[in-house]
Amino acid sequence: MIPVTKTFLPPLEEYNKYLQIAWDRAWITNRGELVKKLETLLQNKLHTNYIIITNNGTIPIQIALKTLSIKGEVVTTPFSYVATTSSIVWENLKPVFVDIDPSHLTIDETLIENAITEKTTAILATHVFGNPCNIPIINSIAKKYSLKVIYDAAHAFGVTFNNKSIFNYGDVSTCSFHATKLFHTGEGGALFCSNKKLYDKLFYHHNFGHDGPEKFHGLGINAKISELQAAMGLAVLPYIDDIIAKRKEIIDFYTQNLHKKDLQFIKIRKDTNWNYAYFPVIFSNESLLLHIVQKLNEKNIFPRRYFFPSLNNLPYIKNKQKMPISESISKRVLCLPLYNDLNTKDLTLICNIINDNLT
Ligand SMILES: *Cc1c(COP(=O)(O)O)cnc(C)c1O
Repeated sequence: MIPVTKTFLPPLEEYNKYLQIAWDRAWITNRGELVKKLETLLQNKLHTNYIIITNNGTIPIQIALKTLSIKGEVVTTPFSYVATTSSIVWENLKPVFVDIDPSHLTIDETLIENAITEKTTAILATHVFGNPCNIPIINSIAKKYSLKVIYDAAHAFGVTFNNKSIFNYGDVSTCSFHATKLFHTGEGGALFCSNKKLYDKLFYHHNFGHDGPEKFHGLGINAKISELQAAMGLAVLPYIDDIIAKRKEIIDFYTQNLHKKDLQFIKIRKDTNWNYAYFPVIFSNESLLLHIVQKLNEKNIFPRRYFFPSLNNLPYIKNKQKMPISESISKRVLCLPLYNDLNTKDLTLICNIINDNLT
C-alpha cells in the first residue's frame, strides 16, 4: 500500500537510548530532562524566540486565543485543517471567514479589511502546506486595527520567511508534532512567541496555572508533553534535514513528471525557504479528481483530499458565508503520497496513473 504519508521512525535503539534516561530517573512527565533538552535543541535549530512544547498542536491554538484575551470575532481562513476553526468555536468565539488566494492557498490578505468589524479582535491564519501567509500585509492590517495575530503553523516546521523562522511571526505561532507531520513526537506540538511576559502567561496556562507546587498564577489547562514523546522528538530531530532533502527530491520528481498543463501546483511565497511538507495538486474539476482517486485506489495508492470540505461549511458553523475560491479548491485539491522512503518505482507508477487519466 502507498499511503499519503508514512511516519518517519528513527532506529529503535536511538529512541531507547532516550527512554533509558527517563527510566533511570523514573521521570516520565512534568518537564523532565528530555522535554527541556528538546525545547533547547528546537530553539537553537530553528532560531526561534520563546518556545513551549505541548502535548498536541490543537491545544496551543486554544491557549493562544485564551492568553491573548481574544473576544468576539476572529478573522480566519476556511482552507485549513478543522482544528483551526474548531479551536475558535471551542473558545466561544465567532469565526469570520475570509476567502483564500487561489495560487498560494493562504488567506487572501486583500479581503481581510472588508471582514473586520468593531467586534474583531484577532486574525488566525494558517501557513497552509507550510506556505507562509502574506505576513507583512497581515501585520500592517493588525497594527491599523489593533488586532492580535495568531499563526497556525502546524505544517511549517523548519520554514523560514525573509531569513527568519516562520515561528517568530505573529503574536503567537503554533505548531503540531503529530505523527503525520514533518517533525513529530507521536502526538505533540508547540507554542512560540517573542515576548517574555506573554511567554510567562502561555507557560502558566499550559500547566494548570501552577506557580510552584502550592501557588496558582491563575486559570490553566494541561498541555504538557511527556518525556516519552520528547524522547521520540529527540530521536527524530537528527534526521530532519535528510527528511526535508528527500521530500524535495520527491516533489521535484512529481513536478518534472506530471503533466503540468493540466494541473495546478501551489505557488510558494517569495522569500520563503519551504519545507516540502505536502504536495498538493489541483485538478480542473472534482469529477476528474474523483476519477483519478479511484484509479489510484485500484492500485492500492491512497492520496488524501487535504483540505476538504472548506471549513465555512462545517455543520456547527452558523450563518454560513460563501467562500467561492476555498470551496472550489477544496473540491479539486489532492495531496499526493510524500514520505521519506517513497521510491522512484512507486513515484513513476503514481505519475503514470495520473497522466494517463488526465488526457
Ligand atoms: C495537524 C494540524 C493541527 C492540529 O494538530 P494536532 O497535533 O493533530 O492537534 C492544527 N492545524 C493544522 C493546520 C493541522 O494540520
